[in-house]
Amino acid sequence: MFVPHKFRLYPFRSQERELLRQFEELRFLWNYALERRQEAWRKEKRSLSYVGQCRDLTRWRGFDKDGIGRVNAQVAQETLARLHDAFRHFYRRAKAGGRPGFPRFKREVCSLSYPQAYESVGFVDGRNSTRRLHLSIVGDIPIEVHRTPPEGRVKTCTVEREGDRWFAVLTYEGPDPAPPPATPPVSPVGVDLGLSHLAALSTGEVFEPPKFLRWAEKRIQRAQRIVSRRKKGSHNREKAKVRLGRCHAKVRDQRRDFAHKLTTAWAEAHDLIAFEDMDLRDHMRGAFPKATADAGWGMLRQFCEYKEAHRSGRYVEVATKGTTQTCSGCGRLHNPPLTLKDRTYDCPCGLRLDRDLNAARNVLARALARVPGGTGEFTPVETGPPPHRKGRRVRSWKQEPPSASRVAT
Ligand SMILES: [Zn+2]
Repeated sequence: MFVPHKFRLYPFRSQERELLRQFEELRFLWNYALERRQEAWRKEKRSLSYVGQCRDLTRWRGFDKDGIGRVNAQVAQETLARLHDAFRHFYRRAKAGGRPGFPRFKREVCSLSYPQAYESVGFVDGRNSTRRLHLSIVGDIPIEVHRTPPEGRVKTCTVEREGDRWFAVLTYEGPDPAPPPATPPVSPVGVDLGLSHLAALSTGEVFEPPKFLRWAEKRIQRAQRIVSRRKKGSHNREKAKVRLGRCHAKVRDQRRDFAHKLTTAWAEAHDLIAFEDMDLRDHMRGAFPKATADAGWGMLRQFCEYKEAHRSGRYVEVATKGTTQTCSGCGRLHNPPLTLKDRTYDCPCGLRLDRDLNAARNVLARALARVPGGTGEFTPVETGPPPHRKGRRVRSWKQEPPSASRVAT
């Protein structure tokens, strides 16, 4: 398995200039190669091959020794490979009868990738026991190695610019973690993501949404105003833009940091974490897009997934339908349906629960029904709708015999 590690880079002015020059070359390469492909498709309904474009690139690099010729060959080919990928999806959609748009031209490129970093990338010692990252052509860039990188080789390296900061993402090749054990989970938990609470756990814990964005909003607005007051193309405007970028970056960092702390704690305490498989895009179009973005649900699920995988735990996504309306005690549907205003779930069977807690318990029950040996007391789920839609990923227990999940019935 590949494990990415992100490190901060502190390039010298000259190195920064060199990286920006290479970005510009790659942007030109992308746009040029894209135009060639578009032409071939429009005029002759023909698709250009990746290999063919690479051959052209080699020739071009020979002529333009100070331009694209001074970008690592594999880095340049990686750009063509990504374009090839984009077109593959385009052709597939075109074949399916749709009218897809072409892949887009790029106004700006903010990263470059070494697909085979073994040869061209590596750590070297700098002055005063500092470290540097060696990149072919660019040189040795000062790097902050804030944590010990894992054993094993660097597989790929991506250098990227975020606002006025630089980062290197190195992926390491490591052994695959053991698959989750065939025994039932010891401390499973279901999570209901919401807006009134960020997350309600089936254990009864409740986490409030961090309102970083709203706190920082005033500052962002002020910075935005300053940008729009400055004359277009002026130095001061550029400076103001950098300041605005920093405000946004700060919010992003805080959100990510919070999500990491939360999910690490969850993954350490629970060997199974279950979420609803709701489509975040629907919610972003819904009534509270800003609050949704602020809550960072997608990050929570993504982090939980890989953190559980590393610990040989389980990450499960279950169908959303009915998790709020179903009673987690007896399986009845609430009648009349709960509205957004109803905060408690009240059932004729005697169950009275916080609505989010009830939903989290349903999520957990549905997840346990899919895990070998995990069900038993959660009978409502087996009578309910199939817990998974077609085509969604159901992780972790695929390796085990299918009969195992029926044990409980
Ligand atoms: Zn009930």
